[in-house]
Amino acid sequence: MRLVAMVGLLLCVVSVASAKHLGPLDYTMHRMGPGHGPTLLVVGGIQGDEPGGFTAASLLTTRYNFTKGNVWVAPNLSFPSIILSTRGFHGDMNRKFAFIAPDDPDYKTIMSIKDAILAPEVDLILNLHDGSGYYRPTAINSMLNPARWGQSVIIDQEELDNCPDHNHLGNLGNLARHVAAQVNSKLLNALHVYHVKNTETRLGDREMEKTLTYFAITHGKPAFGVEASKDLSHAQRTYYHLLALEAFMRRMGIEFTRDFDITPADVERVIHENLNLAFYDNRIFLDLENVRSQLNYFPLKKDADMPFAASSPRVTVLGAGEEYTVYHGNKVLTRLRPEYFDYDESLQSVPMRIDGQRRQVGIGQMVGVRESFLVEALPEVRVNVIGYAPPSGGQESEHGVLLTNADIQSRFSVDVQGTIYRVEFYKGPKFAGMILVNFRGRPAAPPVVCTARVLSSPTNAGR
Ligand SMILES: [Zn+2]
Repeated sequence: MRLVAMVGLLLCVVSVASAKHLGPLDYTMHRMGPGHGPTLLVVGGIQGDEPGGFTAASLLTTRYNFTKGNVWVAPNLSFPSIILSTRGFHGDMNRKFAFIAPDDPDYKTIMSIKDAILAPEVDLILNLHDGSGYYRPTAINSMLNPARWGQSVIIDQEELDNCPDHNHLGNLGNLARHVAAQVNSKLLNALHVYHVKNTETRLGDREMEKTLTYFAITHGKPAFGVEASKDLSHAQRTYYHLLALEAFMRRMGIEFTRDFDITPADVERVIHENLNLAFYDNRIFLDLENVRSQLNYFPLKKDADMPFAASSPRVTVLGAGEEYTVYHGNKVLTRLRPEYFDYDESLQSVPMRIDGQRRQVGIGQMVGVRESFLVEALPEVRVNVIGYAPPSGGQESEHGVLLTNADIQSRFSVDVQGTIYRVEFYKGPKFAGMILVNFRGRPAAPPVVCTARVLSSPTNAGR
């Protein structure tokens, strides 16, 4: 399973868009698949308080491999709203497709996602949401009625204009009913049943005229909203979104594999798995799965931009100066309290003895240790095992010392269980890199990463 997960991460590295100068809150576009055949565009996170949709979209980028046809995914369209768990930080982004003022903070995002919608390759567009209650065609009570949105496939009209035949993707009603039926064959509870909701936008729905899907269909592109219910758990919403996505993909002739099962338990697992972050081209690697709420004396680069890369498009870093916050969606994973250094980038790997075996370990790796490790001496390199206090005290290098988990004070661990520790390397006053040792013996995580971003240096970064 671990190997499969690693393969998944490697795939996602290939899939990432040209992302050279993405800021920490820019949306990412992941273009996946062999390049020929039908292309699906999936948008998640157009509203920031709908995590089922953006989590499902994000899993497409990290846990799926597309062997026929293509899937383009923008999983985090309104990332500032995702971080704040608010519908729209600059107003509702899904009401800005008919008109947007050039000075609107969302202008650049809207223009660029419109380009993707109109790209000649794109055959069909899905906009993923979590809606309130449960949509029902006739009123049953306040939570189950025609005004609710949850558990539905949304169409603006029954067919695209000039739809050539019943089987065409432009026959929106037929396709939506097919997808709803597919989802309904895997319901966890009869209450969760999906229906097709036709907003009949053209007949005068002024709100829906401003949406992404209506923009798409008025430009001749089949487009659907898909809604899980906000009354379900995060994992359950993600489960239903994945079922709907797969039904659409199969109907389009897109073929794929994934490295988990679509069950509530497995979806819950993959939402929290393989979370990690690398800084400065992997000079520092952080495992985020059980990370402590705060990491102190974190060695950041003085007076410089902070390029980082995360294993999930839902992970980002915000901050400056005295504190940086690592987010997973709207959840704070950890806060980094930095100590600023000049960097020496010459050190590539370090000779270590792991459980008695000599190994050359690359900077920015996490190495699994069952019993003990030792860092061998390297000319001019000072070794600092964070949390180890040598009996002699002082600042000398901690190379050549055989260390077990018990030798290191657990309050200095990276993880809450007290099993992952930082080994830092310095050349004179300069920071030269970090390796993590993991006493749970977990194998080295791949130096990952899906989403590359840059946090620009504010003038107060140095001190
Ligand atoms: Zn929504």
